Amino acid sequence: MPLIVQKYGGTSVADADRIIGVARRIADAKIGGKSVVAVVSAMGDSTDELIRLAHTVSTSPDARELDLLLSTGELVSSTLLTMALKTLGYDAISLSGPQAGIRTDTMYGRARIDSIDPSRVQKELKAGHIVVVAGFQGISDNQDITTLGRGGSDTTAVALAAALGAERCEIYTDVDGIYTADPRIVPEARKLDEIGYQEMLELASYGAKMHPRSIELGSVFNVPIYVASSFGDAPGTTIHGDPDGSQMENRIKVTGIALNTNVAKITVRSVPDQPGVAAALFEPLAKVGISVDTIVQNTSSDRTTDISFTVSRTDLPQAESEVKLVMNELGTSSIVTDATLATVSVVGSGMQNTPGYASRMFRVLADGRINIDMITTSEIRISCIIQEGQAQEAVRLLHRDFQLDKGD
Ligand code: ASP
Ligand code: MG
Repeated sequence: MPLIVQKYGGTSVADADRIIGVARRIADAKIGGKSVVAVVSAMGDSTDELIRLAHTVSTSPDARELDLLLSTGELVSSTLLTMALKTLGYDAISLSGPQAGIRTDTMYGRARIDSIDPSRVQKELKAGHIVVVAGFQGISDNQDITTLGRGGSDTTAVALAAALGAERCEIYTDVDGIYTADPRIVPEARKLDEIGYQEMLELASYGAKMHPRSIELGSVFNVPIYVASSFGDAPGTTIHGDPDGSQMENRIKVTGIALNTNVAKITVRSVPDQPGVAAALFEPLAKVGISVDTIVQNTSSDRTTDISFTVSRTDLPQAESEVKLVMNELGTSSIVTDATLATVSVVGSGMQNTPGYASRMFRVLADGRINIDMITTSEIRISCIIQEGQAQEAVRLLHRDFQLDKGD
């Protein structure tokens, strides 16, 4: 029997009625002749609620205890969904991340999957069971429960699909696919039928709501990922390798505009312009697993320079305290932070080796009187960091100028 992995996000299992609705959808897939592994997120905002609860007893909750606490959110939803499936008359079993064989490193709160031993899941599937796996969690070599980072159930689902050799991974959520821009900001945004892994990775890293690591895994293990709504039957978006080669160079060059408002900037002022400074600054951040995005270092005039970089706003307090620990060593006494920024990105694999996209983006922002704070690019993305207050307008202007409402 062909195997699919389906993932249901927090809003899709937010209450009893929705859980029963999800059970019916899983049952439909089963009736349609598929073996199903379902991965679930915690109900609604319950992860936020658990984090809030942790902060009522401690200003900085212990990382190990917090992960064990957060893992319970997904245990609740997976067990309830399994009970609902059984009530509908289906053989189903829930498994925690560790029971599903998901082994991770020891980085609490942002653990990465080292390996998956699929034998237990395979045994249950062989027995004809629908297997419901608690997303977002695994177990380290020390036998401690870890979580994969906010939104990590997507990554659980794609990793399981890869380990089990599923034909595809279906991500059911509260939006019905991937759009050229957030439709709440740009009403004329279009739903894409398909998108390549690399483009989606850029969109997911810079705004679209999917755990970027899940796209990375999909790309490495070549798992097609289908994103659709859990509330209706509208066709979704398939993320896969190199879509629609038929249009070759004529295909539309820009695929989407991404917005990320979870951006904070740290500027370290007047550090000496000498070897080792950047290493001394960024090594401690890497060690605690904080990912740094845009980095800008100015050329110096008086043998000192400013280094600015961005991190996610959620990482700002930790990043700031790590930097403060090395300020002496860096020979500076001044750091400035700004948590009012956003990143707006133009993404499209068609932009590779085609000049003019960056200048066009800058022109659009200039005409909109939007100041650019920092700029970064990859082969298929141009990102500008701007004030958050102007970000939605920037997305609308860019969407219009690149004619993304027109389709291909
Ligand atoms: N429940 C976790 C979160 O809210 C994981 C997930 O939803 O994928 O971040
Ligand atoms: Mg969630």
